Amino acid sequence: MNTDFRTRLGEAAGIENILEREPMKRHTTFKIGGPCDYFVKIISTEKLNAVMKLAKEYEVPFHIIGRGSNLLVDDDGVKGIVAVLTGKLEEVSRSGNRITAGAGAAIAKVAVFAATEGLSGLEFAGGIPGSVGGGLAMNAGAYGGEMKDVVLEAAILCDGQVRYLKNEDLNLSYRHSILDTMKDAVVLSVTFELKEGDPVAIQDKINELNARRREKQPLEYPSAGSTFKRPVGGYASALIESAGLKGISVGGAAVSDKHAGFIINKDDASFHDVKALIKLVQEKVEIESGILLEPEVKIIEQ
Ligand SMILES: Cc1cc2nc3c(=O)[nH]c(=O)nc-3n(C[C@H](O)[C@H](O)[C@H](O)COP(=O)(O)OP(=O)(O)OC[C@H]3O[C@@H](n4cnc5c(N)ncnc54)[C@H](O)[C@@H]3O)c2cc1C
Repeated sequence: MNTDFRTRLGEAAGIENILEREPMKRHTTFKIGGPCDYFVKIISTEKLNAVMKLAKEYEVPFHIIGRGSNLLVDDDGVKGIVAVLTGKLEEVSRSGNRITAGAGAAIAKVAVFAATEGLSGLEFAGGIPGSVGGGLAMNAGAYGGEMKDVVLEAAILCDGQVRYLKNEDLNLSYRHSILDTMKDAVVLSVTFELKEGDPVAIQDKINELNARRREKQPLEYPSAGSTFKRPVGGYASALIESAGLKGISVGGAAVSDKHAGFIINKDDASFHDVKALIKLVQEKVEIESGILLEPEVKIIEQ
């Protein structure tokens, strides 16, 4: 990549915030993914704006990620910039029954913060390993709760402008949000509207849901959570199990024995192992049930 671009990227983000040829497997819960050209830690909205403008000027691809917990990244790596939000963009604060969290903050930490503040509503998110921004982008949900239920508004940087979008303008539905259709938009922060509750009862609920996760999910292996979206009227895991695919593997990737909805990185799986296993599961399930499973995991490939 051209030296002029590298110098200007250093000025925009702070040279200490840039890693070149950084392996993406260090930044995905699947522990899969080759090097990206520039891995950039973004510490403020101003720096994010400057980096995005520069990427546009030089026509360098720009990818925003959160905690990499819903990503499958190519072993050949990622061209251009991969940006993560940190510093000021991870701060969390309370005002009345509202919590505003920087998009880089871990959603599970925000849930625990809400519990200590005696604010209820985010218990469902206490075991989701993503960020607030990724959670909004995916409308993350679990155990009957989802972001849609608790989001008041979000600040989003788009075309150099910060826009405040209300819940109803965010198009939140099952694992979908307006971010799927807004090009080059980055969530900066999310404000949650919560209800007063007993801190101990709220934390107990989080603990109970986390215990259920540990019991049902293969948390001992790297994965990106549920690989497929829930099809209308059923569960991906049940369809995969009835197609006889529990435990099946391609290379180092396997359908979990513990929870058939999870593809796990069992033994140093490659990007292509996981992709081939996704395809195999889709084909077999479609033959057995007539239902085409849609991946929930976002794939970044060259
Ligand atoms: C063990 C395990 C359990 C899981 N359980 C659940 C669960 O119960 N419920 C659930 O819904 N999901 C679950 N997941 C999946 C995952 O944690 C969620 O989808 C989460 O919301 C992804 O957040 P992230 O920050 O890791 O996003 P990433 O995986 O880094 O990115 C996901 C998408 O969000 C976009 N994105 C990230 N940050 C921003 C931002 N600031 N602005 C704009 N776009 C952004 C990315 O571009 C990408 O398209 C689980 C995953 C694992 C590994």
